[in-house]
Parts: sequence; C-alpha cells; structure tokens
Amino acid sequence: MSHEILANWNGVEMPLSEVTVSALDRGFLFGDGVYEVLRVYKGQPFLEAEHLERFRRSLDKISIVCQVDRLIERMQMTLENSGVTEGMIYMQVTRGAAPRTHRFPSGDVPPNELIYVEPMEVDHYAEAREQGAAVITVPDLRWKRCDIKSINLLANCMAAQQAAEQGCIEALLVNADGTVTEGSHTSVFGVRDGHVLTSPLSPSILPGITRGLVTRLAGRCGIPLHETSFSAEEIPQLDELFLTGTTAEVVPLIRVDGNLVNDGHPGPITRRLQRAYQEFVAESLSI
Ligand code: PLP
Repeated sequence: MSHEILANWNGVEMPLSEVTVSALDRGFLFGDGVYEVLRVYKGQPFLEAEHLERFRRSLDKISIVCQVDRLIERMQMTLENSGVTEGMIYMQVTRGAAPRTHRFPSGDVPPNELIYVEPMEVDHYAEAREQGAAVITVPDLRWKRCDIKSINLLANCMAAQQAAEQGCIEALLVNADGTVTEGSHTSVFGVRDGHVLTSPLSPSILPGITRGLVTRLAGRCGIPLHETSFSAEEIPQLDELFLTGTTAEVVPLIRVDGNLVNDGHPGPITRRLQRAYQEFVAESLSI
C-alpha cells in the first residue's frame, strides 16, 4: 500500500501530491537550485549535521539566500508529523519564481523551499548489499562543479538509465583522462593490496556524506585509505570495489562492464566496512 507522502512547501504542510510549482520557478526552468537527501533510521535523521552543512555550502556556492535554520525546524516538524521511522528526507531550495532571464533576478525573490519525508517500504539495495552488484562504466558528461549538489542531474540521469538498460545498479563515471570520478548517484571506492582508494575531494565529485563516514570508519578499523583516484583501466587490477551513498549505504561490486571483480564475490574489506557502517548506525541511534 502506498501512503500519502507528507511535504512542507514554503512553510505549509501538505500532501506532496498537492504541491504545485510556478512555471517560472528557476529550478523548473534552469535547474537553478540545490538539494539534499538524508536517511531516516528509527525516526531519526542520520548524519544530520553533516548533510545540513553540505546543504549550506551548496546554497552558498550558488548564492541562494535562504534561512536554513527555519528549514531545519520545518524538516524536524515534517518528519515528526509524517510518523516515518524508516525512510528519507528530501530538501530542495530553488532561486524562486521570476521573469525568465539567465542572470539572477534582482530584488526580493523568495526562494522556493520544498521538504518531503518518504517512507522506505522496500530497501531496494538490500539484495545488492548482500550479493554484490553489477555496474557499467560510462563517460562522465557532467559540468565542472560536481561538488555542488545541484538539481541539474541530466547527465547523472542519462548514466543511470544506461546502467538500468544493461541490468546494472549504477554507472561509474569516467573522466576524459580515464579517471573514475564517482557513480551517477554514489561515491566509488576500490581496494588494492589491502589499501582502500577513493577520489580526492575536488570540483569533479560530490563530497558524499557516506564517503566521509566510510573514510572515518576505515581509520577506526585500521584499514589504510588513500584519497587517490584510480582509472577505468586499473579496475581489473583491483581486489575489491564498492559504492557508498545515503540510501545505498555500502554496496559491494562484483561485475564491471560484464567482467568479474576478482572472483566475483564481495571482498573482506568491503564486508568489514559494511559491518562498521551498521555498527555506527546502531551507535548513533542509541545516543
Ligand atoms: N555522488 C553523487 C553524484 C551523488 O548524487 C550522491 C548522492 O546522491 C553521492 C555521490 C553520495 O552522496 P551521499 O553519501 O551524501 O548520499
């Protein structure tokens, strides 16, 4: 049974299906906005401070002025009123509705602020987490500011669609120089000779919140981790490969472009980090 999803649209709580947006909204016309997604475990937003800090940074980077503290209050109220215990929170702020010109509108145009809380009735990643998943590699066609969590996701959507058409869970994005940057909606890690590798923070990737946590967890587990990219050509030399993301958590990869990763089974370091992730979730909920 699908439940009505509860939204907060510019401060007013209503069912998500009843939210209507002006055709002049700059998010609608230009993709002029940013967003954030948080996971809710047992009714509590996970890594809330980290997500909200990234949201503030995204807003700052594109000069949208918005009262984030007010948004946080709304987020907490919407979560509470939704009664959702397992789910996700979506937050989006666009530069608002104004006559269509490329440059930012002058004057006082209020941003359009959307929050909704969606229950997660089915965990779509559960099987992939257990069994491991298949991915493809595709060229990274995105812009040069992937560090901003922009609602412009066309290149990401095209890559994800290509992966889906090939029965894969995700597309790994490969830069013109051959570097694997990240996934269409996940961060990517490789393991070689016991060392974990992941792209360094730069404008070429989103600073994934789960990426940050897994980096810290590797430290706790005594697993050496290097913020060093690997290339698509180097994938056959990797012992393990995995993805991270807010809803994906930690997903082992067992096939890339039809070729097995190592022996085609999730590797021990990925398994160790999956356990550490679960332990961290449990710990943070008991505080
Ligand atoms: N990289 C991209 C391009 C993403 O869109 C996402 C999440 O949506 C991620 C990485 C993972 O980020 P997080 O761990 O914050 O969910």
